[in-house]
Amino acid sequence: MTIDSHCHLGQDDYEIPVHQVIQEAFDNGVNCIMGVACEAKDWLELLDLIQKQENVYGAIGLHPEYANYDYTMDLIKLSDLFKKNSNLLAVGEIGLDYHEAPQTIEAQKKLFYEQIKIANQLEKPIMIHTRDAEEDTIRFLQKANNEHLLSKKGVIHCFTGSETMAQEALKLGFYISASGVITFKSAQNLRDIFKKIPLDRLMVETDAPWLAPTPYRGQKNRPAYVQKTLEKLAEIKGITSQEMEKITDDNFKRLYLGVK
Ligand SMILES: [Zn+2]
Repeated sequence: MTIDSHCHLGQDDYEIPVHQVIQEAFDNGVNCIMGVACEAKDWLELLDLIQKQENVYGAIGLHPEYANYDYTMDLIKLSDLFKKNSNLLAVGEIGLDYHEAPQTIEAQKKLFYEQIKIANQLEKPIMIHTRDAEEDTIRFLQKANNEHLLSKKGVIHCFTGSETMAQEALKLGFYISASGVITFKSAQNLRDIFKKIPLDRLMVETDAPWLAPTPYRGQKNRPAYVQKTLEKLAEIKGITSQEMEKITDDNFKRLYLGVK
């Protein structure tokens, strides 16, 4: 049984009803799903879903693409929602994206920092999105760590970065999550980096509806496809899929559910 540790579960993300998307995953060897809503308007829809579905958890936050508005009230709401819902396990995805929104770098940094502080107050891990912003992301996390703001650590979601990025994140106690990108033919460099990441820091995800793994590449991704990424990760690490399932399951539970 495999955990999809990061997928988007808004109805707009899929052509079929989202509860069917979840059921399909459960019918295909997935035992747990972490849904993500990273725009304030989508938080309640996700909450409603995770309250109705067993073994579906949630992460909410503000993606760096949405750094450029007055989010003061939304951040208050964010904290409130966490206090009222124990199935919300992480603040995310949050971070820096200089690819999608290069014009808002300073605003992104401010929003990122605010949310790191909130996660720390709530004692929740953070789920990091970083794109074309590797050095700043690591510098930022190191700064937060020096300020004792990373007590619950977190995960670099959909990791596609450099070896340096991976090593620095590991030093900070972070987990590294593999998406369908590791199955792409062109991703040998990324597979070589994953080869060196310790087993007890790995997670797998789909990031559905984006980045479908081979052989579904080009189609809309779904949580049911996480198995393909898990199989590839097992192959990279030279272990069986069953062993990798157990390892990523343990890691998820250790980070998000506090299971030793
Ligand atoms: Zn995502």
